[in-house]
Amino acid sequence: MAEPQMLQPSTLSEAVKALAGRGAVAMAGATDLIPAMRKGEIRPRVLVNLKGIAEMTGVRRTRQGTRIGALTRVADLLDDPIVAQDLPLLADVAAGFASPQIRNLATIGGNLCNAAPSADLALPLLVVDATAEVRGKGGRRKIAMSEFFRGVNRTALRPGEILTAIVVPRPRRRTGMAHAKLGVRKAMDLAFVGVAATIQISPDGKKCRRARVALGSVAPTPRRAAKAEAILEGQLVTSQLIDEAAEGAASESRPVTDLRASREYRREMTRVLTRRALREAFRRAGKEQP
Ligand SMILES: Cc1cc2nc3c(=O)[nH]c(=O)nc-3n(C[C@H](O)[C@H](O)[C@H](O)COP(=O)(O)OP(=O)(O)OC[C@H]3O[C@@H](n4cnc5c(N)ncnc54)[C@H](O)[C@@H]3O)c2cc1C
Repeated sequence: MAEPQMLQPSTLSEAVKALAGRGAVAMAGATDLIPAMRKGEIRPRVLVNLKGIAEMTGVRRTRQGTRIGALTRVADLLDDPIVAQDLPLLADVAAGFASPQIRNLATIGGNLCNAAPSADLALPLLVVDATAEVRGKGGRRKIAMSEFFRGVNRTALRPGEILTAIVVPRPRRRTGMAHAKLGVRKAMDLAFVGVAATIQISPDGKKCRRARVALGSVAPTPRRAAKAEAILEGQLVTSQLIDEAAEGAASESRPVTDLRASREYRREMTRVLTRRALREAFRRAGKEQP
């Protein structure tokens, strides 16, 4: 394989220009990219290293919510004070991500743009209705996280577009969040099944006002479980309702059998983990200040 040329833009405009070239591919932490190149799955002529672009790094609060630069490394999510306050679920998920070595390289943007069915960071972002900020030849645009994933390793990004940041809306009151991941080991393993859930409860603490459930590794893309959400919203939260919602999530999962787990096992685990995540999210919602 011929060595690709390496470009190091220091601004977004330079990067957009570089990515317009033939065979140009964006590179962040390269933890997905290098293995894919070694396997011959992609053969870039030019690698556009995004890491020097200052405006794509860091976490800050804006009027729209919490803005997480796409180059933020998974390791940085673990101890960022704004993430800890505004989206602790993201820090929780980051803690179970790969190994310290991989977390020190891997970026949140790379995890989303690689669009693996098992992309861990997609789940907490799907359940808070995050938005992707994107920049390309045509200028800037926004994509709802629920619209971002289009297939295995396929996103809604147009050729040459760069994911610059993810914006998470301000945390809602009386809302609990939880996630559950199943792999053979606790770390260094892609999930067989991953689930994240949020529940916002009514002021009296009994009804579910709003629910979000996201599933990983059980469909070609990380995805919301709309059926489960509809079962919960507006209803009195009981153990039976949570069981029904978990059943709903399992029925809308589309798992496949592979070397790691069978379709049937994944579907059953979707039910079990959804129930676990929803129970925990409801419990945490009750602990929030009204
Ligand atoms: C040993 C090992 C363990 C792993 N464990 C986990 C795990 O537990 N959970 C998990 O979810 N993943 C895991 N991964 C996968 C990988 O580490 C993540 O997906 C990582 O977040 C990718 O980020 P990156 O910065 O390395 O992306 P890169 O490899 O640099 O890029 C990935 C893809 O995204 C594109 N891209 C990157 N950034 C942008 C951008 N800003 N705009 C447009 N396109 C972009 C690249 O062109 C490429 O196609 C693991 C990988 C390894 C090797």
